This record gives sequence, structure tokens and C-alpha cells, in this order.
Amino acid sequence: MSIRYLTSLDLESFISAARAVPYQGVNSDLFPGVEVWIRRDDLLDPLISGNKAYKLFYNLLAAKEQGADTIITCGGAWSNHIHATAAAGARFGLRTMGIIRGERPPLLSATLQDAERFGMQLKFVTRELYRQRNRPEFLELAELDAINSLYVPEGGANLAGAEGIRLLGEVIERTAPISFDQLWVACGTGLTLGSLASSVHRFPVHGVEVLRAGDSIRRDAEHWIAVLGTNRDWRKGSIPTKAFELTNKYHCGGYAKYPNCLREFQQDFEQQSGIPLDPVYTAKLMYAVSQEAIGGRISRGARILVLHSGGLQGRRGFQPRK
Ligand SMILES: *Cc1c(COP(=O)(O)O)cnc(C)c1O
Repeated sequence: MSIRYLTSLDLESFISAARAVPYQGVNSDLFPGVEVWIRRDDLLDPLISGNKAYKLFYNLLAAKEQGADTIITCGGAWSNHIHATAAAGARFGLRTMGIIRGERPPLLSATLQDAERFGMQLKFVTRELYRQRNRPEFLELAELDAINSLYVPEGGANLAGAEGIRLLGEVIERTAPISFDQLWVACGTGLTLGSLASSVHRFPVHGVEVLRAGDSIRRDAEHWIAVLGTNRDWRKGSIPTKAFELTNKYHCGGYAKYPNCLREFQQDFEQQSGIPLDPVYTAKLMYAVSQEAIGGRISRGARILVLHSGGLQGRRGFQPRK
């Protein structure tokens, strides 16, 4: 299996890197009665990895096409999106600026240290200003409107981002090594879930909420399905009543909460499979699949594909077990 990595910024190279991403079968007693495979999008590229790479792709192209020389975006101290954006800017010759909430701390997180090393300029703004980040006049308010830039919202959550994830769905349809019964993905905003639900037609998509989000992830996923449209071509008899399934049982207390049960599960999983997870997204995702399998809520013999959406750089934000 040759992994190509993201070496140049064009559709053909990107698709060929995406098509080279391996699917790995998992042999583990953590998923009794079901067959689990993982699509390793954490391996898409060493630095621009996971679903954030897909969300960035069309944004990077748009920046080039517009003749923008800078990508401005925002995120938190451990943001996978900030990390990927900084790395992508360095790789493809775009300046990057990351808008971060609050005052610059004396010691930056490992994520933000990397981002600066990749050349990203960090601009720390007040919480009050950060709250305006989704308003059209945000760059003006932040006094950044003189820069020839493309603004990408937090997490890469715009139409170009959704179109990038739709591309991932199309690649999954064409490269899946066996016929799967379900695809499982971790949800922060719901963009990845919705964009996959609109592009993966061969099997239903299940989302696992990693935070207490009320109804917002469902609404966000439905929004992106409506925006992208769908031409589902379900075989007769297998037409789902919903475009996707969603569970909120596995946020483990909230965003980035890491109770012992999750920590122990992650250790067992990593030991048995050799596949690293991140505590915020993919550990909760695998934990959900495991618990659903153990509880008999996934039918016996089902073939489950799980999307490894990356985020491994964020592991550094969690202390190893004492
Ligand atoms: C951002 C992220 C997600 C969530 O993606 P959404 O489209 O916001 O739901 C999942 N996994 C990883 C590793 C991420 O970084």
C-alpha cells in the first residue's frame, strides 16, 4: 500500500492521496459479534490529516483562485483545524493567521507552538470579539480587513468544507474493500456527518456526539444535507427513514472530558489494534461502537466501517495515566 500524502494542491493529487488511505480490519474482543474496519484518514498526510484536510481542500483552492495570499481562521488552543491550516499554508505557499480566544498565555499549547513553527501568525483576541467570529463583519471588527485573505470559519465549517467531506464520501463509495452495513463517524458540529450522509449511498451513516450539544448537531447535519443535496439510490427494501442516525450517549460528560472508563477503553483498544486514537473524538467514537456491540444494539455479523478522522496531534493535551 503506497501512501502518497498531500504533495500538490490540485484535485487529482488530492483524490489519489484519499484513495490510497488504507482500510484496516480490527481483530478485538471489544466488538463482540460485529466486524469492524477502520478507514485510516489519520494517515492521509503526516500533518494535514483527518477530516480537517478534506474541509480545507476546497478552501485552499478557493484562496489560490481568488489570489488571496492569506488564510485567516480561528480556533482553540488544541484545535485540529488550526494545526492543519497552519501546516497546509506552509505546504502550499499561503500565509496563515489563527485567531485565538483570550490572552496569549506564557506557555503556548503544543498545538499552537506547532502552528507558529509552521509560520502561522497567532492573534489573540478578547472573548467578546471572538464571539463575533461568525458575523460577516468579523474581520473588520478584528481590524484584519486590509489583508488580502480568505476567511475560513472555525473547524472549516463552510460550504467548501462540506464539499470536501462530500468528496471523502465519494472516495469511500469507490474504495470500500467490502460491502459495509454502517459507517460510523465522530461529530463535533455535524458537518462531517451531514456531508457524508449526502454522499455515501451504499450504507447508512451513524454519528457519535462528542459533546453535550442539545439538538445542534442534528440540525447542523440536516442543514448540510439540504445544502449539498442527495441523490440516494437505495436498493429496494433498504430505504432508511432517516438520512443518518445519531447518538448522544457517549460524550462522557462533555467536550474533551476524559473519564477513566474512556481512558481504559482507549488503552485496551490501542493495545489490541495498534491504532492510536485521540481522546476528544475518535476514542469516544470507538467506545460508542464497542458499547453498542456489547449491548447487542448492532445486529450480529454486521460489517461496520469507522472513520478515523485524525486529531492525533491533540493527544498531547492529555496527561498520561499515572
Ligand atoms: C473536527 C473533528 C471532528 C468533528 O467534525 P465535525 O464536522 O465538526 O462534526 C471529528 N474528528 C476529529 C478528529 C476532528 O478533528
